[in-house]
Amino acid sequence: MTKLTQEEIIKKLDNRIFQLLTKTADELHRECYLVGGYVRDLFLDRPTNDIDVVVVGSGIEMAESFARKLGKGCSLAVFRNFGTAQVKWKHQEIEFVGARKESYSHDSRKPVVENGTLEDDQNRRDFTINAMAVCLNGDRLGELVDPFDGLWDLEDGLIRTPLDPDITFCDDPLRMMRCIRFATQLNFFIDEETFSALERNAERISIISGERIIDELNKIMMAPTPSKGFVELQRCGLLQIILPELSALDIVETRNGKSHKNNFYHTLEVVDNIAAHSEKLWLRWAALLHDIGKPKSKRWEPAVGWTFHNHNYLGKKMLPSLFRRLKLPMDERLKYVQKLVDLHMRPIIIADDIVTDSAVRRLLFEAGNDIDDLMLLCEADITSKNEVRKRNFLQNFKLVRSKLVDIEEKDRIRQFQPPIDGVEIMQMFGLGPCQEIGYLKNALKDAILDGVIPNEHEAALQFIIEKAAQKGLFPTADAVSSGQT
Ligand code: ATP
Ligand code: MG
Repeated sequence: MTKLTQEEIIKKLDNRIFQLLTKTADELHRECYLVGGYVRDLFLDRPTNDIDVVVVGSGIEMAESFARKLGKGCSLAVFRNFGTAQVKWKHQEIEFVGARKESYSHDSRKPVVENGTLEDDQNRRDFTINAMAVCLNGDRLGELVDPFDGLWDLEDGLIRTPLDPDITFCDDPLRMMRCIRFATQLNFFIDEETFSALERNAERISIISGERIIDELNKIMMAPTPSKGFVELQRCGLLQIILPELSALDIVETRNGKSHKNNFYHTLEVVDNIAAHSEKLWLRWAALLHDIGKPKSKRWEPAVGWTFHNHNYLGKKMLPSLFRRLKLPMDERLKYVQKLVDLHMRPIIIADDIVTDSAVRRLLFEAGNDIDDLMLLCEADITSKNEVRKRNFLQNFKLVRSKLVDIEEKDRIRQFQPPIDGVEIMQMFGLGPCQEIGYLKNALKDAILDGVIPNEHEAALQFIIEKAAQKGLFPTADAVSSGQT
């Protein structure tokens, strides 16, 4: 964090937008402040595009007048029901709101809103570090109004509510998710009293819509170290409510002196590993959910100890209902996560054995264009503390990777198209769709994936003719005379 004097703040605000905001506010004789994330990020030296402006009076009137000054190239949207307005200009969004006082009833996060002072407006904000205001009027330009010592908390790296945290969280339970999200994004601690209130109010999260929860979860997921957020969610009891499938992994069972690993912390390590290598949100989700089938598949087998057979398959099966419940997208993004969860053991199994061309070809066939993401996930999944074991795996993965490249070059399996398709086979033998065609198509696919024949038309033709003959099928005279065979 950098400490800024009033002069330094003024310098940072020396651009067309802020000059026009000052001009507009002064002309309208309105008190006007920059608030929220922009002020926080000014001190943290973080980039922000959203500018939040509070006007003591009408935010809409101020926005309209500001937009006229900005002129061509800006767009204005007015939300009369909420008393807010938004101006977009270049890459920036400027939100205007009149200073307000809010009061909440128990069963809704929609408050009753009245006009208020700047102080009222700061009281309704979620965290001390988000409640700081900087005056934009000419005579007080750059003056910081910080009634809850947000600046100290920024310096200490602390998330704390301005008022009684029980009231803040009970009024709007989404703030509990925001609390953990900011702690994760900024790598801040949650103040002790604020954290206790999270524990006491966790149940209240049930009045928040899935979409809003997911917005926050996605932000936690895209932070540099997502594990921090999930540890806090688990510690305060929120995770049990919003993602019980993940929370259930937080257990270690011991029998006859043998313990299995804590799959919750293992999972978080995998997510952090992925986060260090990829910015893909859905790959991070796949990492988060890759082991959720484990509790259901867990068995104690006296001869071997703890086993989790088929946990990848069970995990894949759990995903559609989990996605539906959380309002996650039910489209190809679900399919992608399912595919990775389903296949996440395959490269490990291959790497644990002799790496055959056939196994690699089949892996490539099933993973298709997601093969690189799958390999990243599998490498991230090796969290063994046994360094020798870990090194061996990673070395074998290198072998798998180089075979993947060789085989793809040779056989083009990634976007597999058989060199002879069903229609061609039907024409060749004068048949309609039937079991035999299905059998021949499958046999051809297997022969290519197992490396019995190359992925080429001529070889495929020979193979089909031989296979068909074994079934008593022969090409038609037409096919022979047209040279198809
Ligand atoms: P970012 O945009 O990086 O997520 P931000 O602090 O700008 O962070 P926004 O959601 O854009 O967060 O909200 C802007 C400001 O509005 C916050 O800084 C905070 O003061 C206030 N705010 C937003 N949501 C809430 C809420 N649920 N309860 C109380 N205050 C809120
Ligand atoms: Mg913002």
